[in-house]
Amino acid sequence: MANKKTTLNDILERIVKIEIRLEEIAPIAKRKLPSKKEQIAQIEAEIKIWSQKFPTIDIEFELAKMLDWLKATNKRKKDYRAFFRNWLRKSTNTVGNEPVTPQSYTYSCASNKAGCKDEVSDFKDMSFFCKECNNIKTIIKVTRN
Ligand SMILES: [Zn+2]
Repeated sequence: MANKKTTLNDILERIVKIEIRLEEIAPIAKRKLPSKKEQIAQIEAEIKIWSQKFPTIDIEFELAKMLDWLKATNKRKKDYRAFFRNWLRKSTNTVGNEPVTPQSYTYSCASNKAGCKDEVSDFKDMSFFCKECNNIKTIIKVTRN
């Protein structure tokens, strides 16, 4: 009996080792946001909620404006909902045609490995992920443009 138990433990140990190896080769925890199309569709589905959050703003108009701006500037975002939220906040902070003081935010990965890259954005609540370590980057610097 003791012999059989040892063998079973041996097998279990091997399985654990294989699982660790697999996790190294292809991590299950890779976080991926839905495609741009899916994210925009989600924003469109939530227009009523957005309207309640930003009652003075024409949400549909602002969404169309944002999409035009993204197209015109050829910009790609990871998190379009976060970007849209910021876009709306900027709209509420704008008095007449007076723009708010532009600022840049430098996002950095806490791991600080050689492959980690900083990212600069005009918005302060973006979700940038480090491609190297899959960490969410945090703001380390605010620059006035
Ligand atoms: Zn990193």
